[in-house]
Amino acid sequence: MRVRRLKQILLFGPYMVFLIALIMCVVLFGMVMRQNRRIEAMEEEIGHISMNQDSLIEEVSSVTSSVDELGSAVGAISNELSLVDIGAYEKGTQQGHARVAWPRKVYLTFDDGPSANTEKILDILDEYGVKGNFFVVGTENAELRKMYKRIVDEGHALCAHSYTHKYSEIYSSVDAFTEDLDRLYSLLYEVTGTEPVAYRFPGGSSNSVSKIPMSEFIKVLDRRGIRYYDWNVVSGDATNPMLPAERIVENSLSELSEFEEAMILFHDLSNKTSTVEALPEIIEALQESDIPIAVIDDTTMTIQHYINTKSK
Ligand SMILES: [Zn+2]
Repeated sequence: MRVRRLKQILLFGPYMVFLIALIMCVVLFGMVMRQNRRIEAMEEEIGHISMNQDSLIEEVSSVTSSVDELGSAVGAISNELSLVDIGAYEKGTQQGHARVAWPRKVYLTFDDGPSANTEKILDILDEYGVKGNFFVVGTENAELRKMYKRIVDEGHALCAHSYTHKYSEIYSSVDAFTEDLDRLYSLLYEVTGTEPVAYRFPGGSSNSVSKIPMSEFIKVLDRRGIRYYDWNVVSGDATNPMLPAERIVENSLSELSEFEEAMILFHDLSNKTSTVEALPEIIEALQESDIPIAVIDDTTMTIQHYINTKSK
């Protein structure tokens, strides 16, 4: 009986071992498979997370491009706004002071001083930081003579306009003209220590008062190397009765656009108070248009009536 059992054990033993090993294999295989599934699930989850990340990045970039679009839209709008501004500005200048866009330079010239207004004119020019051109006559008044010096000291152009300003005397002969010229030049040199920058004929080089051709007087200036200037814009302040300041402003600015360099004629005379009154507005209009206000120098264009009338 024992032997039979032993035989049975010996016979079935290997089967049992094989069976156990098989069962263990199946169990292990199942475990491996389960682990694999878990790994796959985890991988899927990771993929999902990175997909989320990708879509997040996409969203951020779309927001950024929206911001960019918004920026360029703002740029376009501000461009249009500035165009609107320019339009309004041009309209404003056309309706107001006239279009003063062209002149490269404007010369403010004051004839016939010094006078009771010279200090006021100089103060206004100083206040706006601009320079003027003073075509002065001779005076015996010691107080007024100080103005020649102040004009030079403050950087304005001191120019000559005859000593007496009396047409009948100055234009009576070449000698009389020369004598008057010398008298004024000596006085100005004596007071300021400098020569005048330029000359302006009383009544201009195109005046019809002189019986002697103006070319004779121009020769005198040429021999001395003196340049003369007339004007191309008239403020109208010479008229009687005196023009109101608004009209002087209007006259001074309305024709400027016709000239590359504009030389405006004003008068520095005691009774010309509206000229003083008009000056700040004229300067402000020029400064707002960025037009330089200049002093006469070697680079100044030839603004001469005599030559202009001859060439026509
Ligand atoms: Zn004059």
